[in-house]
Amino acid sequence: MQATGMVFLVGAGPGDLGLVTLRAKELIRTADVLVYDYLVHPDLVDWVKSTCEVVYVGKKAGFHSMPQEDIEGLLVRHAKAGHQVVRLKGGDPYVFGRGGEEARALAAGGIPFEVVPGVTSALAAGAYAGIPLTQRNTSASLVLVTGHEDPTKHELQVDWARLGGLQNTTLAIYMGMSRLSDIAAKLQEGGLAATTPAAVVQWASLGRQRSVTGTVASIASLAAEAGLQAPAIVFIGDVVRHQKNVDWFENLALFGRRIVVTRTRSGNSVLRNKLQQLGAEVVELPLINVVPDVPRETLVEVFSELGTYDWIVFTSANGVRIFFEHFNQAYPDIRALGLLRFACVGEATAAEIEKYQIAVECQPEVATASALADALIATGSLDSAKVITVTGNRNRDVLVQKLEAARAIVDTLPLYRTEKLDLSQHAAAHDFRERGADAVLFASSSAAQAFVDQAEALELAPGARQPQFGSMGPQTSATLRELNLPVDFESAAPGLDALIEALIESLAQQIDP
Ligand code: SAH
Repeated sequence: MQATGMVFLVGAGPGDLGLVTLRAKELIRTADVLVYDYLVHPDLVDWVKSTCEVVYVGKKAGFHSMPQEDIEGLLVRHAKAGHQVVRLKGGDPYVFGRGGEEARALAAGGIPFEVVPGVTSALAAGAYAGIPLTQRNTSASLVLVTGHEDPTKHELQVDWARLGGLQNTTLAIYMGMSRLSDIAAKLQEGGLAATTPAAVVQWASLGRQRSVTGTVASIASLAAEAGLQAPAIVFIGDVVRHQKNVDWFENLALFGRRIVVTRTRSGNSVLRNKLQQLGAEVVELPLINVVPDVPRETLVEVFSELGTYDWIVFTSANGVRIFFEHFNQAYPDIRALGLLRFACVGEATAAEIEKYQIAVECQPEVATASALADALIATGSLDSAKVITVTGNRNRDVLVQKLEAARAIVDTLPLYRTEKLDLSQHAAAHDFRERGADAVLFASSSAAQAFVDQAEALELAPGARQPQFGSMGPQTSATLRELNLPVDFESAAPGLDALIEALIESLAQQIDP
């Protein structure tokens, strides 16, 4: 008989990946089965190991895609099969998350379990919308209350009139959007002054966060006018008055902006993180698929002579990743790399190399293959040097030609090919077509080319926001123009920070012409 597994009821926090607990991250990484729903950020799901079975049991407001009993049955069944099961829930599992019911079902089934708390959405909404939830002179208590009352489910009735009579209290209402005007009226009937400040915070902690502020009398119509819906927290209480003074998040330079980054040969997480730090909603469009395609014989040859090369050159983070997957299989010890010197192009590529505690000795300021060749030549070390370049199938020969002209002996190791990705069903592409964006950033010529190759799948719906196009530098701009795309802004210097500076400047000009 197989040993019984275990179930972890884990809070995933309100959305921002940085607000996930360390315990949650560790459990997601090692789970055999991951069960998650609608409010869990989809990027968390990318942390699972490759053999993990991922089950979506999502509910959208009013629509339960899997009944609660079935979810409980699923957890018990997988645990009995000996699996480590992570049940991931938005916010905290024990705050309006039905975690208590799941825990009871597990206990009844004799299944061992652990509960990992998460940052509940009211706390995140307060922090990210500039609303302290308690305040020495204005609010001495905080009530977390559900506005969702579905008589068919025999839920408890909330006594709103009584809550309206509480003094010096902050109300944080979950699931209250569909009945907001009704709730506000009942609170006032219970004695709450019509002028009591109120706010609605939708998608708290994410780049797509929106909030409105008013009074308990006006908040329902203000929220409706602004188009705010679930998921949102409604705050009612004097603490809302503080908002303008301490709203660090909504005052960020890119807050409220939708920025598209293209994901081509390498992941764009460095750029994405920088944009999110500035409050932007980042839409990551994967335009091509990277398929490992490793020529066995070449790989064996290269590995057998690894100690004889002077330089190894990477042109993408994917190349680095696939190279090390094979290297780690072949060698248990990083020192098999000997004194090999590392060169690369692009910040994401360098970041991937640095993950292995390896210093990049040569990286051009401008992220092009030609600049990389020039930078290597400038080291003065190429005459008769042995160089291995790790590439994809689309890489242009300019790098190899220039290195050979500088009398280097160059071997190439292509490790992957790129394919056009089918975007018709892709969620991010769908979102882009429907809503558009404020800007699209192109970090390379190949990204521009891939964008044009996908033009049909990226055609904007009527009413979608028309983006500006921004480029990383002169070479990418030239490619954009060749492809008949506009260049609305270009970074003035190499590197992602300069690109972001150009973006902010260009967007600012757009609002005040
Ligand atoms: N267990 C969750 C609550 C689930 S109930 C938690 O602890 O946060 C679902 C409700 O949570 C939504 O209707 C909304 O009121 C709130 N909510 C969840 N995520 C939110 C977010 N990012 N921003 C605002 N409200 C959110």
